[in-house]
Amino acid sequence: MSDRAPTPALQVNADVATASASRLGVWRDVADADWDDWRWQLRHRLRTADELARHFTITPELRAFLNAGNGFEVAVTPFFASLCRPFDPTCPLTRQVLPDVGELNVHDFERADPLGEDPHRKAPGIVHKYPDRVLLLVTDTCAAYCRYCTRARWVASGTESLGSAELDAALAYIARTPTIRDVLISGGDPLLLSTQKLDALLDRLTQIPHLRFVRLGTRVPIFLPQRIDAELVHALRPRRIPVFLNVHCNHFLELADPVRQALARLADGGISLGGQTVLLRGVNDDAAVLQETFYALLSARVRPYYLFHCDPIRGSAHLRTSVDTGLALMRALIGHTSGMAIPKYVIDLEGGGKIPLWPPYVEQLDRSLITVQNYRGERWTYVNHAD
Ligand SMILES: *Cc1c(COP(=O)(O)O)cnc(C)c1O
Ligand code: SF4
Repeated sequence: MSDRAPTPALQVNADVATASASRLGVWRDVADADWDDWRWQLRHRLRTADELARHFTITPELRAFLNAGNGFEVAVTPFFASLCRPFDPTCPLTRQVLPDVGELNVHDFERADPLGEDPHRKAPGIVHKYPDRVLLLVTDTCAAYCRYCTRARWVASGTESLGSAELDAALAYIARTPTIRDVLISGGDPLLLSTQKLDALLDRLTQIPHLRFVRLGTRVPIFLPQRIDAELVHALRPRRIPVFLNVHCNHFLELADPVRQALARLADGGISLGGQTVLLRGVNDDAAVLQETFYALLSARVRPYYLFHCDPIRGSAHLRTSVDTGLALMRALIGHTSGMAIPKYVIDLEGGGKIPLWPPYVEQLDRSLITVQNYRGERWTYVNHAD
């Protein structure tokens, strides 16, 4: 192993790197005031086979699948569609939001609830699995729907957002459980709550004395950057305790100018930004693409936090890689890339929680000496001293 050739410098394929942000074609005549209005973007999402066919290749099989209407909800904002290469089913952005007939292939190891969350529902919207932190699922709605969504069983199910009595019960659970230090507001996408509701929720949460910080998981800055207006940034402001925002971003092409401007507004507003990326086949299962994505996130002031292995949700095999691929990609990045650009790679067990995976660098562990491999694949020894 020590004679393995060093990984060549990573280089992004020029073809993939061509940004396609444009409003050509279908949206050429939309007034800027409409295009920049997040409500207009939400109202004009592409949902049906005919709407999608204006920008994407819809094969007869896919049309039949869409028309049957029994898959996971479909919606793409015009903004995100405008970043997708038109009529190219291999576009890494298209693959994330356009259904594929592969969704009909369900393996017996795939699950509707791959993380085993449902047994941990302790109060309305609360998933309490780890000792000191809880998930608070506030809405089932997203700006657009990712085909590999871990919560596809529940997201877009029409349950919509938590009602005020349910929210009271969720907050009461957090308030009476002093071991909780960190609340992760998710969904669905919490940035689709009304600004007023979000502001009030953060006011109430940040007053709970045993909480040390609050975080939100969102994909709105990517799918709907127009939503990040001054009022929303104000609602997300740090209070007694900080507010972190983890942005789900899978490919550097998602970080178009309006997205980077939205992220800058958030960072300027005092909100700490983290990144979450899902490893997806044909999207980012390439070391150069991942490296450029993590650098692009850092340049947008977003610190990569997690690289999630794609969960075995039903009908997602065409988007998943093997775990070996994930480990090989991590090995291609670690040491070759700034440590700031290396997130933790995790698998999430059905009920057992997240497991960080790191390629093995220790070859042998003796009482007095350990043998390791460095990032170039060279073998080194290191003193294992103990009294
Ligand atoms: C991922 C997750 C969290 C947060 O985990 P961290 O490792 O602290 O980011 C909390 N609760 C649940 C149920 C989760 O799935
Ligand atoms: S934004 Fe998140 S919750 Fe919404 S569909 Fe995508 S992965 Fe699921």
